[in-house]
Amino acid sequence: MNILVTGGAGFIGSHVVDKCLSEGHRVIVIDDLSTGKVENVNPQAIFHKLDLRSADLAVIFAREAIDIVIHHAAQMDVRRSVEDPVFDASVNILGSINLLEAARRNRVRKVVFASTGGAIYGEQDYFPADESHPLRPLSPYGISKLAVEKYLYFYYRVYGLTFVALRYANVYGPRQNSEGEAGVIAIFTRKLLHGEQPVINGDGNQTRDYVYVSDVVRANMLAVHHPSPDFFNVGTGKETTVNTLFDSLRKLIGSALKPVHGPAKKGEQLRSVLSYEHMRGSCNWEPLVRLDEGLQKTVEFFRREKTR
Ligand code: NAD
Repeated sequence: MNILVTGGAGFIGSHVVDKCLSEGHRVIVIDDLSTGKVENVNPQAIFHKLDLRSADLAVIFAREAIDIVIHHAAQMDVRRSVEDPVFDASVNILGSINLLEAARRNRVRKVVFASTGGAIYGEQDYFPADESHPLRPLSPYGISKLAVEKYLYFYYRVYGLTFVALRYANVYGPRQNSEGEAGVIAIFTRKLLHGEQPVINGDGNQTRDYVYVSDVVRANMLAVHHPSPDFFNVGTGKETTVNTLFDSLRKLIGSALKPVHGPAKKGEQLRSVLSYEHMRGSCNWEPLVRLDEGLQKTVEFFRREKTR
């Protein structure tokens, strides 16, 4: 199949590209390299450096006979979305509509969308959240992801463009950006490896659900073959505190640094954890990589990066 991956120079998208190529698909990547890196793009893929919002997107669709779109390009910094909601909506909502318009005009069969389980539910009423949990996003980022889910449903009902929205928990693993605000595992790992002090926001008892990138990639491939439109959480059902993460990473790396706490981030969610029962029942998906194994692989990657 001809598969277009948006955000294919980024962390998760680049792993999805590698997998699609290994399964023999022809892969076209669109990425503006705003946070992604050209080194992440598999050389076997056809790469277009392009903003999702560009009118040239339609030209690429007309030329490449795309069967499936896997949509990962996004402004994905929650704090930036609060500071600049117009920019967030411009990339995440208008960019996605530009993509969906090109997709339906060029008879694409399906769109797989990287949504968020961490940000779309807001403060949870119960733990873990399933897909029927109320949707009360607490950031413009979460709102923009929810808006795109609604557009997906619209394009399905009106144009027959089918979709799967994957609501990711906190994804981690090799190639995650360790310089940004998001991705606590990548940030702590890089700092600890360089002997720099990581700062834990608040008391460190806030919890997240950490899912390893290869499990997320497998969820994408199952979504490509899933026969009906759907929304799936992609998480582990397990909560881990930032304090526990810090401790595990410190031990793996062999760092003597002690935990240092800074002020809590205003509005930061306290607990987030997703049920994956729906994806297990429908697609036979479950997370295979335990947190300790995933952290080990992530540390090995950043160690190799450091010595390059
Ligand atoms: P990433 O920043 O590594 O990847 C995003 C990619 O999109 C980057 O390569 C960036 O250059 C590209 N991009 C950004 N704006 C663009 C634009 N206007 N036009 C074209 N390309 C653009 O982040 P990631 O962690 O790999 O996230 C991938 C997707 O998964 C995002 O949609 C994100 O919202 C979603 N997601 C990620 C997580 C997580 O824990 N990492 C959790 C939930 C959802």
